[in-house]
Amino acid sequence: MAEQQVVADLREKCATPPSLLRDVAAAMADEMCAGLEMEGGSRVKMLLSYVDKLPTGREEGLFYGLDLGGTNFRVLKVQLGGNDKHVISRESREVAIPPHLMSGSSSELFGFIASELAKFVADEEKGTSLSNGKTRELGFTFSFPVRQRSVASGTLVKWTKAFSIEDAVGKDVVAELQTAMQKQGLDMHVAALINDAVGTLAGARYYDEDVVAGVIFGTGTNAAYVEKANAIPKWEGELPSSGQMVINMEWGNFYSCHLPVTEYDQALDNESLNPGEQIYEKLTSGMYLGEIVRRVLLKLSLQSAIFGEIDHTKLKTHFHLRTPHISAMHHDDTPDLKTVEEKLKEILEIAGTSLETRKMVVEICDIVARRVARLAAAGLAGILKKLGRDGSVDKRRSVIAIDGGLFEHYSKFSKCLETTLNELLGEESSKFIVVKHADDGSGIGAALIAASQSQYRNVE
Ligand code: ADP
Ligand code: MG
Repeated sequence: MAEQQVVADLREKCATPPSLLRDVAAAMADEMCAGLEMEGGSRVKMLLSYVDKLPTGREEGLFYGLDLGGTNFRVLKVQLGGNDKHVISRESREVAIPPHLMSGSSSELFGFIASELAKFVADEEKGTSLSNGKTRELGFTFSFPVRQRSVASGTLVKWTKAFSIEDAVGKDVVAELQTAMQKQGLDMHVAALINDAVGTLAGARYYDEDVVAGVIFGTGTNAAYVEKANAIPKWEGELPSSGQMVINMEWGNFYSCHLPVTEYDQALDNESLNPGEQIYEKLTSGMYLGEIVRRVLLKLSLQSAIFGEIDHTKLKTHFHLRTPHISAMHHDDTPDLKTVEEKLKEILEIAGTSLETRKMVVEICDIVARRVARLAAAGLAGILKKLGRDGSVDKRRSVIAIDGGLFEHYSKFSKCLETTLNELLGEESSKFIVVKHADDGSGIGAALIAASQSQYRNVE
């Protein structure tokens, strides 16, 4: 039957046997080396973050963090106890960014952020003489591509997601923020500029010194890890005394001929805003998972009578079916697949499906999500391989901290990712590798890096 042919074909094209995943992991490790070798050496940019000291748990004092990633931004304040007392208290506030500011001017956006930050500080410090004349220290998580030359500066390369503020491109976002804070009369110093992957790494490392990498599987995907400073040939400056440097991989742009790219992925890429770019991200992140399934269901409907006579408007709308919908259908454990029935009806206007048809939809979700998770695991295996921590050389405990909505909310994805990583490493080596969910890394990570950077500065 036509529908079974479509599914069988999908299953075959999405297959990720261990041999293929090992090739992907090896290619990731090779690209990492090539990207470290010289500027432009790989599609995986391997950017220097200029974070050469990660938090240890001994940091002390009051620090602020600011997290600007998608549609909201978060401000937070942490009081660090020092001597492994860790976070004594924390307060945070989430603020929605008015949509008109996402395409306005740079000074409007940063003005808004600074004024919200000033309000937060005023509320938090009410009735205290907290600042006692000292400048407050702030870490800024900014999850858009920036080119950095120091830990506390970076010029915006381009906007992504829903942002497009032309006059900010090419400017130093730290200087923009600093100016806006001054206008608010807010005495605050930006001690670090990082992205969410670096923040996740720092947030987890603060509690556990065996953390080697921070990875995001959310709307997009990215990874950051700790590299030996003398293993970065492209670095021309003076090597840091710590002997270490956090690398922001920007691994979403990874590509290898071993990646199982199907006709659906190809069409998605061709019709995307950035054709030919971010291929690994298009195969492994939340923004695209639902869209791939939508394309499969559309083909299924056009080539077979499985959904009956339906109006294809919704099914033809790009990005109409979203990853949380896929997750809900995939986790449906009712005997007659009630959730699947509801989602198909509500979102795609496909009503009156048979149980057989709904099972087929679940199978499609499973095929696509499993491929996402297995390719994600291969990426992690690639990092461990590059570090010699895949059990081949170094037998120390190694922790990978992961954050992002896909990992956090799609449990079949996160379980499959972990199982696959164990499968790739083998039983013996898996014992040394821990994958853990790092909650709110991107929020608190910046404040912690601000803490370790400023304490470093004070000592010098
Ligand atoms: P961002 O990456 O924008 O900072 P998050 O880390 O919160 O944001 O990730 C949001 C993404 O996580 C969404 O785009 C979606 O793809 C995915 N996601 C959110 N909720 C769920 C869910 N219930 N099931 C599966 N995926 C989800
Ligand atoms: Mg985020």
